[in-house]
Amino acid sequence: MQTNHSFTEKTKYFLDLEEQYGAHNYHPLPVVLSKGEGVYVWDVDDNRYYDFLSGYSAINQGHCHPHIVNAFVEQAKKLSLTSRAFYNDLLGEFEKYITTYFGYDKVLPMNTGVEAVETGIKLCRRWAYQVKGISDNKAKIIVCEGNFHGRTTTVISFSSDPSSKNNFGPYAPGFEAIPYNNIEALQKALADKNVAGFLIEPIQGEAGVVVPDKGYLKKAKELCEQANVLFIADEIQTGLARTGKMLACDHENVRPDILLLGKALSGGMMPISAVLCDDEIMLTIKPGDHGSTYGGNPLACKTAIAALQVLKDENMCANADAMGQLFRDELLKLNSPFIEIIRGKGLLNAIVVKHKTEDAAWELCLRMKDNGLLAKPTHGDKIRFAPPLIINREQILECVDIINRSLALL
Ligand code: PLP
Repeated sequence: MQTNHSFTEKTKYFLDLEEQYGAHNYHPLPVVLSKGEGVYVWDVDDNRYYDFLSGYSAINQGHCHPHIVNAFVEQAKKLSLTSRAFYNDLLGEFEKYITTYFGYDKVLPMNTGVEAVETGIKLCRRWAYQVKGISDNKAKIIVCEGNFHGRTTTVISFSSDPSSKNNFGPYAPGFEAIPYNNIEALQKALADKNVAGFLIEPIQGEAGVVVPDKGYLKKAKELCEQANVLFIADEIQTGLARTGKMLACDHENVRPDILLLGKALSGGMMPISAVLCDDEIMLTIKPGDHGSTYGGNPLACKTAIAALQVLKDENMCANADAMGQLFRDELLKLNSPFIEIIRGKGLLNAIVVKHKTEDAAWELCLRMKDNGLLAKPTHGDKIRFAPPLIINREQILECVDIINRSLALL
């Protein structure tokens, strides 16, 4: 089953550069991209591919969306960064826009996703001590096994993935992991009076698009309310129309107490993340308590407003819902012996590959690449399929055909 994938001179040049001069902290598919537009990307040899990773869901709006690019370029020419030492004429506009958009009192802008997670943790702890009345340094946050919330030292402290965690200790205390999608386990954990928050991905993306049972999020939120515990939703990957609703929590009409957003908040232009919550929580942080040089910069604010507006203007929730359904239906029809499971919501989907060889998912991704579709295995045997949300019916059908042809070669 091993294929002999040969590279052009040009491709090899770029692979070698990264191998020699870059840290080896990723294992990319051997394709070197140099251009993107909509659902497509092109490599340095001008081969075109469907992008079924979308920058891990940062490119929900499609590559180089003209409206977002325009907002970004115009603002970049005017004013990019002031720091928060001064006011700028876009931060307040962005704050008003995003809090109205999601229905919260306040927002705290950051940059990367993991910074939003860290901010959510800090807000939760502040609230625990200043509002809930938990004794100093006793606050505990419940997390789920199989989580992925990023890779800072605090966040890996409660990861169950050995490769992000091992040999990076000592780990930060204050977290307890329970099984995902398990109401009894949550109920039990919430009995501890020192629990301040429950941090959860509404669908576990990196774990291989693990969708909890219907009703789980709603019940979990109810239990948190009863225990006076904050429900912190990490919607960094699942949010912003990816699953067919603006937030994955919307599928169950759950309003998180703390909402974490990132990735597609910029449509792929730059790292922008945000934490939303109401005054009771947000106002526990005072000047100087938390921040970031780039957080809330005018370039990010202008870009994020455009990125959010495009999601609504182009009905991306409805398209993600319809195209996701079509994609899963068509994959199911293939009836492939190599697909063990097809799962997902909207355009956040994954398959579990069934094959005798361990590297079958990687091999399938190489085959799909050769046939014009880029996707990446996650956790060994799973492949996530998450194209930009502007994909149309004809393109979905063509992509399923590519997947089918690639499966036939396994
Ligand atoms: N949370 C979730 C659910 C994610 O999927 C990710 C990244 O994949 C992060 C947090 C971390 O985001 P970033 O890589 O921008 O720090």
